[in-house]
Amino acid sequence: MDVDVREVAPGVWQARAKHVAWVLVVDGEEVTLVDTGYPGDRERVIASLEKVGRSPADVAAVILTHAHPDHLGSAEYFRTEVGTPVLVHEREVPNATGTRIEQVSVATLLARVWRPDVAVWMRDIVALKAARVDRLGSVETFAADPLDLPGRPRPVHTPGHTSGHAAFHLPDRGALLVGDALMTEHALARTPGPQLLPSFFNHDGEAALASLETLSRLEADVLVPGHGPAFQGSPGDAVAAALAAASRA
Ligand SMILES: [Zn+2]
Repeated sequence: MDVDVREVAPGVWQARAKHVAWVLVVDGEEVTLVDTGYPGDRERVIASLEKVGRSPADVAAVILTHAHPDHLGSAEYFRTEVGTPVLVHEREVPNATGTRIEQVSVATLLARVWRPDVAVWMRDIVALKAARVDRLGSVETFAADPLDLPGRPRPVHTPGHTSGHAAFHLPDRGALLVGDALMTEHALARTPGPQLLPSFFNHDGEAALASLETLSRLEADVLVPGHGPAFQGSPGDAVAAALAAASRA
């Protein structure tokens, strides 16, 4: 199965499929699953659990950085088929349940389909069933800080990419899981390295920049994005690189 699973901090495993990543935070026998890939990544999500010696039944909860189809992919499957609680930030509930969807429109993408990278990426994400994601029938919100889950993740509201986007800080593990607040590699980015997602993916670009400041104040040794490899360094260093990239764009 084509998923690369690496331990990027103690008990923190980043699983990377072709276009998106998710994270397994292992604590004893249990796992917190952070994001769930595209719908078409389901076998890869299960394979990633097997690679760390766990199964879907060991997932104590699914927590979502945000509810775009490449992160939400198997959340409803876990909720309904495995009985796993799924949690999002309270402002992400409408996106997760589908009552108010915040994501790039098909029209916006089609306007760019003359770009070969966009055309290839769109073909891939259609194959990954991006347009057929199951929204959540019900969802819980982050009621504690830290969350009483494996790894004791601390949700950090980082709006911009979506209104209810959250990063997860794992101070005990020296890791900061940043979702799509910042990424290091994407099929539609010209160069690798810490940066914001291409602007048409962000609901509110100004808020996305402000959220970088929030991230830069946290302490960690590694940043783990939803797209691209982990960044070894401090959030301050990653944010400085992302701000420099934004000023060049
Ligand atoms: Zn996203």
